[in-house]
Amino acid sequence: MAEVEFVKCDCCGLTEECTPAYIASVREKFEGRWLCGLCSVAVNDETVRSEEDITTNEAMDRHMRFREQFKSSTPPAKPAEELISAVRHLLRKTLESPRKKNGSSTTSFSGSENRFSSMSNEEVST
Ligand SMILES: [Zn+2]
Repeated sequence: MAEVEFVKCDCCGLTEECTPAYIASVREKFEGRWLCGLCSVAVNDETVRSEEDITTNEAMDRHMRFREQFKSSTPPAKPAEELISAVRHLLRKTLESPRKKNGSSTTSFSGSENRFSSMSNEEVST
C-alpha cells in the first residue's frame, strides 16, 4: 500500500489523504498551494471561463471569493463528524458492558474510564 499524508485544501479546508507524489504535483500546479479535487476543477474552470488570460493565482482568488460567498450563505454543518462520534460512543458502550459484569462495579468503572481515554488518544494519532 502506498504511503499517504493528510493534506488540507487551501480553498475550502477539506482534508484529504493523498500520496506525497500527488501532493507535490498539485502544489506545483497551483503555485505552492494545495487544492482538493473539487476546488482544482473549479479553479481550472475559472481559467477556462475567463475572457482574458488569467494566471492560476488569479483563478484561485476568484474561486476563493466565490467560496466565501457560498460559505456565508450556508450554515456550517458537519454531519459526518457527528455520525463518527456517535458511532464511537456506541462502540465504547458495547465494549464496556461485558467487563462491568465481572468484578466490582466501582473499580471496573474507573478502570474503564482510563482505558477509554487512552483508546481515544490512539484513535486521534492514527
Ligand atoms: Zn477544496
